Amino acid sequence: MPDRLWLSLATMGGEERRFVQEAFDTNWVVPLGPNVTGFEEDLKRFLGQDKPVTALCSGTAALHLALIQCGVTRDDEVICQSFTFAASANPIAYLGAVPVFVDSERETWNMSPLLLEEAIQDRIAKIGRAPKAIVGVDLYGMPAQWDQIGAVADRYGIPVIEDAAEALGSELNGRKCGTFGRFGVLSFNGNKIITTSGGGALVCPNDDAARKTVFLATQARDPAPHYEHSEIGYNYRLSNVCAGIGRGQMLALDGFVRRRREIHALYAERLADVRGISVKEAPAPNHALNYWLTTVLVGEESAGHGPRTDDGAARKRERLRLALDAENIESRPLWKPMHLQPVFSDAPFYGNRTSETLFEQGLCLPSGAGMTASDIDRVCDIIRKVVP
Ligand SMILES: *Cc1c(COP(=O)(O)O)cnc(C)c1O
Repeated sequence: MPDRLWLSLATMGGEERRFVQEAFDTNWVVPLGPNVTGFEEDLKRFLGQDKPVTALCSGTAALHLALIQCGVTRDDEVICQSFTFAASANPIAYLGAVPVFVDSERETWNMSPLLLEEAIQDRIAKIGRAPKAIVGVDLYGMPAQWDQIGAVADRYGIPVIEDAAEALGSELNGRKCGTFGRFGVLSFNGNKIITTSGGGALVCPNDDAARKTVFLATQARDPAPHYEHSEIGYNYRLSNVCAGIGRGQMLALDGFVRRRREIHALYAERLADVRGISVKEAPAPNHALNYWLTTVLVGEESAGHGPRTDDGAARKRERLRLALDAENIESRPLWKPMHLQPVFSDAPFYGNRTSETLFEQGLCLPSGAGMTASDIDRVCDIIRKVVP
């Protein structure tokens, strides 16, 4: 049996050890230090827009601190894209607030601006106040329709949090993902486009917000020689050792994105004539994906057609997943929408089955930057055998 092909294996760029070694040599084995500051500067420079970046222990922590700074408290409502990973929604619940889930649109698979506005209007009509914040996502590295989402949010004066955990290196109209909302969330978990073994960052609108983020992430200590606290704090800072890995990864990031794009192009080319599979593509050239994962819909004639809601879709997709698994290849269904998750079964939802259909039909293919062309052939040969 050939080696297992994993969905998204982390790759080292080469310089990570040097930065980590430096942390040991200079005795900065703590949750602050030159690697943390250096990593934050690297991220800020990479993203452009002059937005300060705060390194944290996870993307989930970044979302939590963004929601707090948007003023979200108990019983507030927060709009969240339904088609996403649970980490986009969980921090809403940490605060005792209520997630209101909104479905996706077909072009980007991300939050539908039309359904967003419908949801806001209906919440105002039903509970007499607007949602406190909007969490939109750049799923699988696909930039959401930020111009339209931003326009709707502005009409009602609601701050937007961009969950760009999967989209470091993606761009919309030449602008990097992570910079579109009031706050932007990044993740450096082991399976993301870069890794710090575990980590995240909050992209902040200004220096005051960045200072506040660090304050909240370090137990909310007031200025005093003793430990004085007038707010609840958290222990969310990234360690200087992990940030060292991050600095090394930043040197390799452009190469990782280039390689993931090549992998996507190879899949698209080799599967172009398979009628039962469509490889997800950017809806227009201004959407420049990092192609963190290459995703396909099973049982579709070709890209761009509407969803065919047939009951067999999930079965076809599962047949392919099992066939790949039998050949030691990891693949995974697309994210199961939050409004279908038992834990969120009471949450309001505004939708039209788009994310449900995508969940039934969709599969993520192995996409790690370390994959070779023959690895891709191995995956495509099985797809050709299973899907007519
Ligand atoms: C990975 C991920 C997160 C959470 O990031 P962690 O660093 O794992 O906490 C949040 N949102 C999305 C969409 C993700 O894929």
